[in-house]
Amino acid sequence: MKYCSHCGKEVADEAFACPNCGCKTGGGRDENSLSALSIVGFVFAFIMPVIGLIISIIAHSNAKSDNNERSARFAKAGIIISVCLIALYIIIIVAGVACAAAVASSYSYYY
Ligand SMILES: [Zn+2]
Repeated sequence: MKYCSHCGKEVADEAFACPNCGCKTGGGRDENSLSALSIVGFVFAFIMPVIGLIISIIAHSNAKSDNNERSARFAKAGIIISVCLIALYIIIIVAGVACAAAVASSYSYYY
């Protein structure tokens, strides 16, 4: 048994909402607990965005099926950060290649 966060009444662990006040219970688990996978995905989003993106997508679908709103939002942030960093890396690589090409061509002009 657990207790409703809203009215404090006892609620069945598997209940989606409190039978007393109708307040959402988070589908049988603490609504404020972040799933480990969403945290891992979020961390990897910064270190290795491609892996972070994959983990965050899995964490997001898991959180959705678990009705874990907070983890779903956290995983979504991980997905967004991963996508932004992947885009940023692509821009850096393209700019780096363009820069190297410019340097190489300028050398050929002077020598
Ligand atoms: Zn309640």
